[in-house]
Amino acid sequence: MPPSAEVTVRAPAKINLGLSVGPPRPDGFHPVATVYQAVALYDDVTAVLRDDDGEVSVEISGDFADGVPTDETNLAVRAAQLLQAEYDVDEGVDLTIRKTIPVAGGMAGGSTDAAATLVACNRLWGLQLTQTELQHHAAELGSDVPFCLVGHTALGQGRGEQVTEVMSRGTFHWVFAIADGGLSTPEVYGQLDRMRPLRRVEPPQVRPELLSALLSGSAAALAVALSNDLQAAALALRPELGDTLQFGLDHGALAAQISGSGPTCLFLAADSRNAVDLAVDLAESGLCRMVRQAEGPVPGARILPAIVSR
Ligand code: ATP
Repeated sequence: MPPSAEVTVRAPAKINLGLSVGPPRPDGFHPVATVYQAVALYDDVTAVLRDDDGEVSVEISGDFADGVPTDETNLAVRAAQLLQAEYDVDEGVDLTIRKTIPVAGGMAGGSTDAAATLVACNRLWGLQLTQTELQHHAAELGSDVPFCLVGHTALGQGRGEQVTEVMSRGTFHWVFAIADGGLSTPEVYGQLDRMRPLRRVEPPQVRPELLSALLSGSAAALAVALSNDLQAAALALRPELGDTLQFGLDHGALAAQISGSGPTCLFLAADSRNAVDLAVDLAESGLCRMVRQAEGPVPGARILPAIVSR
């Protein structure tokens, strides 16, 4: 593909259908076995070529712009700088992120922005990196970034960065209750370590019933196969989230679970109609800041064709 002066990449949020966490490794990371699903809640990252200097800038707009850093700690900026350093790129880039994924909500918003930026800068700077090379750089940026590149439904192992596609039939209907404020992922892992005797923690593993439920495409089967080892820790830090989960179950959700490290609560609905009803009830409940609905699975970070060339 030839380079372009402006590229927009759409990248999805992720949820964890199963998240099993092992004891911390000597490097501090926790080994996980997780089944990720990409859902149709997106951030759009637009990258515009800057050929006068090598600067990388970022601006944030959208529902969740507040609190997102615009300096070098922004994961999208780090992704662009990583490619610049690795491939001796002289050009810079102006990034604009339109955020509709909640920040620090356990939905990999920062990671997906990083994945989108890798894809955008690969095209913008004409690097012609393969998917495998992009995956390698994604893993350097964070545990969830490789999954955000591939999307769909996948098994994540190691720190979550080793992804393998999982067969999944049909479409599932999700509702998200977005809480006020975020939860820090390291803090939630720290809480988990305090809550369980480490000697007895088993190596992480994916439940076989989760994989069969995905293969069957049955929402009812999936509902009983969801799991999240971080849920108890997130609830210990934010006990009021328990009321939100219970509210969803009382109002027709087939299952309710904390999304990743929280505090977003996710609900599985039987179909799109049930999802709408539940979303309305949750919005009226006053238990959360915002409610969103999305289907999954969807693909990972993709260039938006209409805006590719000028
Ligand atoms: P995960 O599910 O991968 O653990 P998360 O969804 O809980 O992540 P993020 O939305 O990625 O959390 O945000 C975590 C922190 O990362 C934020 O508080 C913010 O300071 C920082 N951050 C850096 N870059 C970004 C970005 N592009 N978008 C959002 N947050 C970012």
